[in-house]
Amino acid sequence: MSDDCVMLSEGGGGQDSKKLVDLIAEVLKNPVLGPMDDAGILKINGSKITVTSDGFVVKPIFFPGGDIGKLAVCGSVNDLAVMAAEPLALSLSLIIEEGFLKEHLARIIQSVKDTAGQTLIATGDTKVVPKGAADGIFVTTTGVGLQLQGCEPSGTKVLPGDILVVSGPIGRHGACIIAAREELGFLGEIRSDVAPLWPMLKTLFERLGPRIHACRDITRGGLATMIWEFGQSSNVGFEVDEHTIPVDDDVAGLCGALGLDPLILACEGRVVLAVAPESANEILRMLNSFELGKGASVIGFATAAHKGMTYLKTSIGGKRILDPPAGELLPRIC
Ligand code: MG
Repeated sequence: MSDDCVMLSEGGGGQDSKKLVDLIAEVLKNPVLGPMDDAGILKINGSKITVTSDGFVVKPIFFPGGDIGKLAVCGSVNDLAVMAAEPLALSLSLIIEEGFLKEHLARIIQSVKDTAGQTLIATGDTKVVPKGAADGIFVTTTGVGLQLQGCEPSGTKVLPGDILVVSGPIGRHGACIIAAREELGFLGEIRSDVAPLWPMLKTLFERLGPRIHACRDITRGGLATMIWEFGQSSNVGFEVDEHTIPVDDDVAGLCGALGLDPLILACEGRVVLAVAPESANEILRMLNSFELGKGASVIGFATAAHKGMTYLKTSIGGKRILDPPAGELLPRIC
């Protein structure tokens, strides 16, 4: 296919995705969109209104540990949460293919309600398209939140010396979807890590506020991509120790069997933080006190050397450059 067309690889969250998004952002550019964080911040009368939006096309729509409804709520509330914003309200937009089972729709809506909890579904939209014009159901959520005063985390604010902390074992969501799609039941059931992060992150931001310089939920493109984005946005380099990156045995097993790298697999309930060095131990302790933060680990640090590049000290003692994935990775992971 020619360069004139959008390619599937440009939706995978890696380097190709970044180029596609840059093409769009270049036209729409404005100061709120500028930092390209997980959500935009609108400063209105002293309040910091936080807005984010996310579309979901995951296949299969039901998977161990969740479904497209739960994923759609978590995706947007987590993009608010990592910006230190309390999720207040969501919009829910559905594109449904003709012939989609109403029983499945009901399950998805119940899941939306259960996951949203106190976050109000304030508005929505429902469209039905002819058979073949969509695949089952596509869901878009837009989240509105209020950023805590004194907190302004951003991918642009990582400083040399900052400590990188990951909130728990990585790659579960990506591994879950691959296993479900490929019917790799022989490897055991891998449950997605999809979960809302605000209760945990609220405690962190309220206590340590400005010492959390950057926070990002690890989604498409995996941990490797999030660290790379921090490096690009803040013009710093990173040194990361692979040995310290938590990966569950079942995820490692699937990666080994299929030749996949857990560092580029998506999560839907994990974050990576860049924090002031004096606060790293406290953050680690606090994360580990939450069920969702069990297994949190310090994985590396930011440096003024080799700006924009991450050096990974591998488990077998070598050293390599950690890049975000290029090419077609895993379409429709979220
Ligand atoms: Mg995000």
